[in-house]
Amino acid sequence: MERTYKVYSITNGTVIDHIPTPQALSVVRILGLGNEGILTIGIGFSSKRLPGGKDIVKVENRELSRDETDMIALIAPEATINIIKGGVVAEKRRISLPDSVKGVVACPNPNCASNVLGAESKFDRVGGQDPIYRCHFCERTTRIVPELLVRTRGR
Ligand SMILES: [Zn+2]
Repeated sequence: MERTYKVYSITNGTVIDHIPTPQALSVVRILGLGNEGILTIGIGFSSKRLPGGKDIVKVENRELSRDETDMIALIAPEATINIIKGGVVAEKRRISLPDSVKGVVACPNPNCASNVLGAESKFDRVGGQDPIYRCHFCERTTRIVPELLVRTRGR
């Protein structure tokens, strides 16, 4: 890990490590980070922990909040978060599934009001270790997968 950050170092910001390949771009989408600041995305690093390889996303000059980084758990629960300040790791953060998810995930029910009327989607977590959520509108229960991501978060 030390070596990785020396080669691809940032002085201040957030490093999201141990993203299973090739989910880096889904992580960028779920965070809604498309057009703010410098993003560095590395895909396909070898990893002891992830035999299929790992991706790394670095967000320069931005300390992601816990609410933001918890969104990553929906698609990459193994990911690790490092907050970098002054060139050193100031915080190592564990992530856990968010209790509710707004806007970034489409309901798989085509007749759902969120799809028919274009209302902002909202899901509440059902519980357990898996990312199983219930739609606020039609109450369909679904597992969150990257294919359900609709867009970057509105702002
Ligand atoms: Zn729905």
